[in-house]
Amino acid sequence: MGLKTAKEYKDSLKDGRLVYLGGEKIKDVMANPMLRTCIETSALDYEMYDMPQYRDLAVVTLEDGEPISRYYHMPKSGEDLVKRHELMVEATRLGGGAIPFTHDIASDTMNAVNITATLMGKNEYIERANNYRRYLQMNDLSVAVAVTDVKGDRTIRPSKQSHPDYYVRIISKDDKGIIVRGAKAHITAAAYFNELIVIPSRNMGQEDADYAVSFALPVNTKGIIQVCHPTKTGFGPWDFPVEDRPVRWHTDSLVIFDDVFVPWERVFLCGEWQFAMQLVYNFAYYHRHTAASYRIPISEMMVGMAQAMAEYNGIDKISHVREKITDLVIYVNILKSLSRAACVDYVVHGGVPTPNPIITNMAKYHFASKYHDCVKIVQDMAGGLLSTAPTYKDFNNPEIGPLIDRYLGGKAGIPAEYRLRMLQLIRRILDPEIEVLAVHGEGSFEAQRMTIYAEAMADILQYQKYVEREAGIHRT
Ligand SMILES: Cc1cc2nc3c(=O)[nH]c(=O)nc-3n(C[C@H](O)[C@H](O)[C@H](O)COP(=O)(O)OP(=O)(O)OC[C@H]3O[C@@H](n4cnc5c(N)ncnc54)[C@H](O)[C@@H]3O)c2cc1C
Repeated sequence: MGLKTAKEYKDSLKDGRLVYLGGEKIKDVMANPMLRTCIETSALDYEMYDMPQYRDLAVVTLEDGEPISRYYHMPKSGEDLVKRHELMVEATRLGGGAIPFTHDIASDTMNAVNITATLMGKNEYIERANNYRRYLQMNDLSVAVAVTDVKGDRTIRPSKQSHPDYYVRIISKDDKGIIVRGAKAHITAAAYFNELIVIPSRNMGQEDADYAVSFALPVNTKGIIQVCHPTKTGFGPWDFPVEDRPVRWHTDSLVIFDDVFVPWERVFLCGEWQFAMQLVYNFAYYHRHTAASYRIPISEMMVGMAQAMAEYNGIDKISHVREKITDLVIYVNILKSLSRAACVDYVVHGGVPTPNPIITNMAKYHFASKYHDCVKIVQDMAGGLLSTAPTYKDFNNPEIGPLIDRYLGGKAGIPAEYRLRMLQLIRRILDPEIEVLAVHGEGSFEAQRMTIYAEAMADILQYQKYVEREAGIHRT
């Protein structure tokens, strides 16, 4: 078994899964143009295995000689974390700003599942986590991860909500397994991946024990219903076609668990409420690091797009423009430095090297909190044509095309077509959906700030002691 091809991945999705899109039941996800765009984006992860320049990054060979995806290799060192980071950056560059996503969030989760099992010290959980990891390695499966509960009133604990199913919960157990009910929102790629791993979205108290549940299931399991969000299909008739650069995109689902059976061997947490926090926090350390990594290419693209438009419009040497481009360069380099530093300065949780929690959250917070400022700079450089530009069809019309070409050129040597193509790319890459993703994906701003504060508390107190000593204050 081992590594899958892109074709095998695509073929594996015809499995009777229950997906609704735009009010219709989708019989074959590959036949739907919106979902096909997403599937082609994801297939890149599998295609990288056969690209000689990526093979060493994408593939790890196990001691028994079996080649597996690097993502499913349990990290053993900071160097492993760096390699994983580089793989995500390269995969996203290949995807023109969109990460293929088939294994990375799954590896974030499986590393957290392994850490939590070790911290719990229960052999059956350690064994199940290892067996499931082995299953993913051997079958090279694509896996979506369902963390975010629908939550109802955000300020109220799961067990105290106005109805009991605002968080996914266990409704019964027997000797074969458990039955779960509830819904998870915004689950990226669930409609076109093989498996789904579910973990809690928050810490739990004793009264919430039924909500402390984690498990993995094939997406086509009876009772899993997905309501998928419409997405882009590719270049429209008004867009300039771009050879070898298809539109890459993902979409997300509301995933409903309508009394779904999970066999014991797929259960990773079942009522151990004290460990829900370990699972969700360790997932978040990994996942926010993944987030920071895959945002590097889009940040590089912002620098490139701002510079291109400034040059095309003849303003690239003007001082305010240089300052704004410098701001973008600082933005992308802080992101790169923090993402790499989080690997080098890793911590060990449950025996597993884990990206440094403070630096990781700083990287994600830096990206997300300054993203809109950077979009503003690119929009500023681009000018108003960013929203009013004539279309490809107009440009190709023999009556008006030459006039558009005559009037919408840039500085000497820059034809209208260059400007119109770059503006189209900017509209596509800096889509408003990506702004929402920057704010909420991998947790809202406060989630990162709270983690930074909590993780830095020992340092903060240490610094206080230091200044008290310097001030001659000797507390008893
Ligand atoms: C494009 C996209 C893709 C995503 N993909 C996935 C995925 O694959 N898997 C997955 O599990 N999730 C995914 N998410 C979900 C993402 O992690 C959540 O959107 C995020 O955690 C915020 O949760 P929410 O959307 O429910 O917003 P809310 O939690 O409602 O946040 C709205 C505001 O309320 C504040 N708030 C919330 N609770 C409290 C509180 N108790 N006290 C004070 N303030 C509070 C927040 O800080 C924020 O300011 C995705 C999201 C997006 C936008």
